[in-house]
Amino acid sequence: MSLRVIVETYGSYTVNAVPIRFFMDDDEFDISLIEDRWQTPNAEYFKVRTTEGKHYLLRWDLSQHEWTLHSSFDGNELLARPGTELIVVGPKAIQEAVSRIAGCESCRGNQANLRFDRIIADVLDKHGPYEFIVTEPAYCQNCRRTLTEKTFVEPQGGFEVHIAS
Ligand SMILES: [Zn+2]
Repeated sequence: MSLRVIVETYGSYTVNAVPIRFFMDDDEFDISLIEDRWQTPNAEYFKVRTTEGKHYLLRWDLSQHEWTLHSSFDGNELLARPGTELIVVGPKAIQEAVSRIAGCESCRGNQANLRFDRIIADVLDKHGPYEFIVTEPAYCQNCRRTLTEKTFVEPQGGFEVHIAS
């Protein structure tokens, strides 16, 4: 089931749009967190949490240019990515990951060629079929834009190898 909704975003619809609230009938839903976002050839999906703590899936149709809401999606097959383990990333690890980047796709352009979740994977030393969900917003230290797990970033001084002790 999907429903057309009006969505207010930061940024343009084509580059790095981040939904901040959506409207359904007369109700306004403020988004407190983008828990996940990913793109398919036809659409961009945002898994969001509202200030009321509810989860929704917003879909931006890349050819129709319209938003739809997929409500109460917990358990929705759209999110079922078999073989993938979801890891919730806490504030400390987020901070550590942020400190390891020099900039993001907004301020570094093509220099930013690594997904932010690769940095998180390094911080947590979790390499493999993992998907990371940040528990609070992360911001680029260089331009202060919001970083999602899928934002391209430029690592500080190249790759680091961490050996667990
Ligand atoms: Zn930046």
